[in-house]
Amino acid sequence: MKEKKNSKASKSRRVAEKNEKAMIAGILEGSPDGIGVAVIRLECGCRKMAAVDKEGEPASKIVAYRDSAMSICDKCKKDHGDFSRVTEAFIDWVEPGPDAATRKKIEVKVLGNYPQA
Ligand SMILES: [Zn+2]
Repeated sequence: MKEKKNSKASKSRRVAEKNEKAMIAGILEGSPDGIGVAVIRLECGCRKMAAVDKEGEPASKIVAYRDSAMSICDKCKKDHGDFSRVTEAFIDWVEPGPDAATRKKIEVKVLGNYPQA
């Protein structure tokens, strides 16, 4: 029997989109301890972001925003970007960033049960 465990397509590491990059840069500017920014994408198109420090602790407030809009959507205003509507979550590291093991540890700590597909 053959097992198809390893997908040969190497999954590229998640990186922020251009418009997210600008936001991330702004967050890091105000968070000198930040070594990366957790990016949480919601199905409605809104985003939540927060800087994390080297211990995986929050290094900034959580910022919620929506592209080219003055505020987040009505849904998010109501449920604050509920867990169940999260489509993606990852950390955008300040390069070079910590080693892989540390990244993993912080990702687990910060993102916990968020979908990280
Ligand atoms: Zn929203």
